[in-house]
Amino acid sequence: MDLVDPFGRTIRDLRISVTDRCNFRCTYCMPAEGMRWLPRSEVLTFEEFERLARIFVERFEIDGLRLTGGEPTVRAHLPVLVARLAALRVPETSSSPLAGRKPDLAITTNGATFRLLAHELREAGLDRVNISLDTLDREKFERMTRRDELVRVLDGIAAAQEAGFEPVKVNAVIERGVNDDEIVDLARFGREQGIEVRFIEFMPLDATGHWMNDKVVGQDEIVARIHEVFPLEQVPARGAAPADRWRYLDGAGLVGVIPTVTKPFCGDCDRVRVTAEGQFRTCLFATREFDLRTMLRDGATDDDLAAEIERAVGTKWAGHQINQVSFVRPKRSMSQIGG
Ligand code: SAM
Repeated sequence: MDLVDPFGRTIRDLRISVTDRCNFRCTYCMPAEGMRWLPRSEVLTFEEFERLARIFVERFEIDGLRLTGGEPTVRAHLPVLVARLAALRVPETSSSPLAGRKPDLAITTNGATFRLLAHELREAGLDRVNISLDTLDREKFERMTRRDELVRVLDGIAAAQEAGFEPVKVNAVIERGVNDDEIVDLARFGREQGIEVRFIEFMPLDATGHWMNDKVVGQDEIVARIHEVFPLEQVPARGAAPADRWRYLDGAGLVGVIPTVTKPFCGDCDRVRVTAEGQFRTCLFATREFDLRTMLRDGATDDDLAAEIERAVGTKWAGHQINQVSFVRPKRSMSQIGG
């Protein structure tokens, strides 16, 4: 049965934050110090994540699962969870192209330890990898992430390619005055490595609250800057995918922009999220959460959980309001929600 929200959007994609912990402290996401981690007992177990995922896949025909965090690779034994999720099957009767098969399994990671995990994750059934990389300059990398890990992240990207993940994508958050001078360099990196780089507009989900509209480098500007050096043409129709995409006219591949702030794509949004502690969210910017963990631990049946998920999806709003005075920042920052 499809999970359809009040605006007729069918939910197809579930993002699961497997931990709120992270080994980086990116300035646009977390404070340098003072993050209060969830006690382990409050974080869902693999069995609990699997049970929820099973309901989403088998009942609601969700055919895409993405693991995120915090930093998903810091969760011990991650390949075990991936193998469990890979054993799920989208119903034969679903209209999904994956009917009768396992859901598409993806991860968003900072890549720093990906070399250690790439093969195991691949064997376990992970399909796709997005690695975050905002700068190619070692000192700036250390300033932005508060960790001197550029070399290991680049090696993590290489490891993902060597392990056969297809595609490997790179996500780059662009903040004006911080790394917008590297837009063309990052695009060049993608062209040279055969990687689709996706530029992400800086969103008001930073823990320190320093986001301001003028720190956002919008899609039009990003594309114009790349086009000046590497001419582009737009690839039509994004569908439910968050990125608008362009093709390099010389055949060097694709580049994307996720324009959450300047060109919101809420009308096509097919995503929902479960946080590390089992709170269900129907929008990255939602101010309301639905407590699935308490239900899981208080003996709720699958029918009870499915009914609560349907009730929650019934509250999914038409769109976030970042550019309006009515916008209210969520209390949690990106690392606590699971981007
Ligand atoms: N640790 C993993 C990583 O680095 O990809 C996964 C979690 S991280 C929260 C997911 C994505 O959110 C990353 O690509 C990160 O750059 C992005 N992100 C975090 N804070 C952001 C913000 N304020 N605006 C836009 N993107 C942000």
